[in-house]
Amino acid sequence: MPAPLMLYDNWERTLRPFAPLAKGAPVGLYTCGPTVYDYQHIGNFRTFLFEDVLKRVLEWNGYPVRHVMNITDVGHLTSDADTGEDKMEKGARRTGKSAWEIAQLYTDDFLLNLKLLNIEGATILCRATDHIAEQIAFIEDIERKGYTYTTSDGVYFDTGKLDGYGYLARLDIHGLDAGRRVELGEKRLPTDFALWKFSPPGEKRQMEWDSPWGRGFPGWHIECSAMAQKYLGDFFDIHCGGEDHIPVHHTNEIAQTQARVGTRLANFWMHGYFLLMNDAKMAKSAGEFLRIQSLAQRGYDPLVYRYLCLTAHYRTQMSFSWEAMDAAATALERMRNGFFALPADPAAKSDAGYVERFGNEINDDLNVPRALAIAWEVLRGDLPPGVKRATLLTFDEVLGLGLAQWAPKEVDVPADVKALAEARAAARKAKQWAEADRLRGELAALGFEMEDQPGGYRLKKR
Ligand code: AMP
Ligand code: ZN
Repeated sequence: MPAPLMLYDNWERTLRPFAPLAKGAPVGLYTCGPTVYDYQHIGNFRTFLFEDVLKRVLEWNGYPVRHVMNITDVGHLTSDADTGEDKMEKGARRTGKSAWEIAQLYTDDFLLNLKLLNIEGATILCRATDHIAEQIAFIEDIERKGYTYTTSDGVYFDTGKLDGYGYLARLDIHGLDAGRRVELGEKRLPTDFALWKFSPPGEKRQMEWDSPWGRGFPGWHIECSAMAQKYLGDFFDIHCGGEDHIPVHHTNEIAQTQARVGTRLANFWMHGYFLLMNDAKMAKSAGEFLRIQSLAQRGYDPLVYRYLCLTAHYRTQMSFSWEAMDAAATALERMRNGFFALPADPAAKSDAGYVERFGNEINDDLNVPRALAIAWEVLRGDLPPGVKRATLLTFDEVLGLGLAQWAPKEVDVPADVKALAEARAAARKAKQWAEADRLRGELAALGFEMEDQPGGYRLKKR
């Protein structure tokens, strides 16, 4: 039996043993989804890959998962301080399409990339614009409880009224603006945030709705609190996102929920750390960024990126480089070929010792780099081939590299090469080693390599 599952909870800032809140019920998992005003970059997908591994580890431990992910298609402003424009309206202007069209376009692209990365789909995928009524009802409740105030541009959450606001990020809200001047506008505290923004006077927004406070649109944080609560309840198991969500977005999701129902929304708060590019956070708003398609254009299988992300722990930042991609490509190619060469043996079972060691690593707060090293030990070790295959298949339930689905590309083999290969196979069978080596040399001269496999061979271009 592997060690019990331990996960790092950013609320407690410590590793905690994980157990589902409701025994026998699926684990409730909410992961903040994409803001669909542009393509997602490979940094975003590092976070989605971490969440996918988390979900697979939960399933591996025998916990079914009810996974909810939102699509932010309204309300995410260009500045976290509730100033600036709605990213969707800005994206619409940039592309010349409507905000609704770009939401669909970038959602479709996002979902396609999840498939290419072998990321399991969410149980429930929900759009912010389909849940305006739930968000309004949420704000009404918070208002009734006295945690809001209204300014000329919207309804705000009064963070000074909530005891313990900002605990997740260990914020000192009254010390925040000490020593520096902060553009407060009509806000009472810099940490106060918009629940509902009014459409600018005289301006028709593409996305706007009527509300008890006036025509406008919901703030970004309220969508996640409202949808998470609707689909997972007042207090569920795990909430995830990228590390940038700790001080603002998740802090505010928690504040809203505390104000409405008195819980911190989720039992565990987990965060994926950044992908860096040239020592800075990869960001959509910072101009050039790499997409999964950019990797494909350079000839990389998207699963090479998945492999690369598996080599770093989710709680450390990871620097992207093409050299690292090349190393990941070579490693994945080796692993795939090694796995492919193993004969399927229906009677073979996974090796219990290795499965336990693998389980210990993934249950140690998803230590996937170490788990991957165990996969290599199995591949290179001396277990019977069928057992190796079965063991690696068990590991791949978590790694998600799709080893069983992979097959080498058929190479075009000219007739003379085929004849040489057959002759060499016959020589080997007859234990004529010198002749077999000579034929191997002839094949090499023609640019082919012969890989011996149990019961046959495979030809590869050199
Ligand atoms: P967004 O589309 O901006 O709402 O982001 C989608 C997800 O990607 C969120 O969970 C972010 O925290 C995460 N994220 C954004 N930038 C990065 C990055 N450079 N590395 C890893 N995750 C990121
Ligand atoms: Zn969110």
